[in-house]
Amino acid sequence: MTQVENKPAAYDTPFVPIEKIVALCKRRGFVYPNSEIYGGVSGIYDFGPLGVELRNNIRRYWWWSMVQMNDNVVGIEGAIITHPKVWEASGHVENFVDRLVDCKNCKRRFRIDQLPEENIIQNKCPVCGGELTEPRRFNLLMETYLGVVEGERMKTYLRGEACQNIYLDFDNVVKSTRMQIPFGICQIGKAFRNEVTPGNFLFRQREFEQWDLQFFVHPSEMQQWFDYWKEKRFEWYEGIINHKDRLHFREHGPDELAHYAKKAFDIEYQTILGWQEWEGIHWRGDWDLSRHSEYSGQDLSYTDQNTRERYIPWIVETSGGVDRTFLNLLLDAYEEEPDPTGKEPRTVLRLHPMLAPVKVAVLPLQKNKEELVTTARDIHKTLQRLMVSQYDDVSNIGRRYRRQDEIGTPYCVTVDFQTLDDGTVTVRERDRMTQVRININELPMYLLERVTWQ
Ligand code: ATP
Repeated sequence: MTQVENKPAAYDTPFVPIEKIVALCKRRGFVYPNSEIYGGVSGIYDFGPLGVELRNNIRRYWWWSMVQMNDNVVGIEGAIITHPKVWEASGHVENFVDRLVDCKNCKRRFRIDQLPEENIIQNKCPVCGGELTEPRRFNLLMETYLGVVEGERMKTYLRGEACQNIYLDFDNVVKSTRMQIPFGICQIGKAFRNEVTPGNFLFRQREFEQWDLQFFVHPSEMQQWFDYWKEKRFEWYEGIINHKDRLHFREHGPDELAHYAKKAFDIEYQTILGWQEWEGIHWRGDWDLSRHSEYSGQDLSYTDQNTRERYIPWIVETSGGVDRTFLNLLLDAYEEEPDPTGKEPRTVLRLHPMLAPVKVAVLPLQKNKEELVTTARDIHKTLQRLMVSQYDDVSNIGRRYRRQDEIGTPYCVTVDFQTLDDGTVTVRERDRMTQVRININELPMYLLERVTWQ
């Protein structure tokens, strides 16, 4: 990853209220409530012009780290709809349930696994103290129907987790590529869940995007690869956040393991919501390929080319979310910095430069000086071929810097009168607000070294 020499180390800043992020996202075009003009749909969001850039950068960086940089990993993109039997084999039809209770008084709804123990014992609402209903079971899979003729339509599901496609395509990948165990298959894609308690903005949605690595190994090498990917994924998250002390592992207790998992660790990040899962590292063993072999009648075992041993591979899974990454990065990066002159605080998003939606803003010092404007537009035209660049000449330079700080733009290039004399511009860095003068010809390389991963 590119090292940015002037990036401050860690910040000892308070936890950011989610409402501040929601407001910023709406105001600056990161995230909008879905179907807002009809009153919205709980747990579903749209992404605006800056949001889509940030998401693309997050996805691309994950793909680069996991697929492009590993010779023993390939990628696929599977469909959202699959044969319904997939979800019987995967155990989701039977086991993908949440148990919930309602408060008879305030009508709030809670997942039992998220209630404090004393509230379960006393059967009391944690918010108003009211009596809770008997627990009910809800399946999280979203149903849909294929076909047009009533009575002949086939009920199936929008995928409840993206990774199933990887097991379904495992044999095709083995036969169509030269991958040999140990190797992995990655995918990024949408997943759908009828979450009982959607909320906390992007944290728990009904439509969201997951990334998965399924790494196939010989059972004798399971422990070593599990440890390897567990560490790798932790380092990956550490590399993109400022508050490194807010990241840790939490091992699942025996009573909370998913139906397929023999062992699991969550990489958790601490925000105003407390410590919450960001990504799961799961020891799936041979559960998935065995179940799909059984339900489909197709043998999904693997033959070792050298030893001729035939076996069902075991799987290490690393499974995280684009949306949760999006939200956690904003919570990690948001800061209101007091202004020593007593004016409004400076809001700044200290996003890693390689993930920031806009990499550079090009600003003529004055709008009414034609030479400044023409030079700035030329610089913008050159830069936008290489990275996301914005040209801005509206209002005074201080305000323009602030606008860029608020969306996390790491560099602002200012064209001033000295530029017309000696061909240099000022490059102002977002975090430290330092300014250096650079020759226009050197600008593309100077910025590329700082905003791209390599
Ligand atoms: P949780 O315990 O929070 O319900 P989970 O254990 O069901 O999550 P997984 O099925 O392991 O989650 O999904 C892998 C990743 O997908 C999670 O680590 C998270 O980043 C993301 N994810 C899961 N559910 C949601 C959701 N409803 N909205 C947004 N992201 C989600």
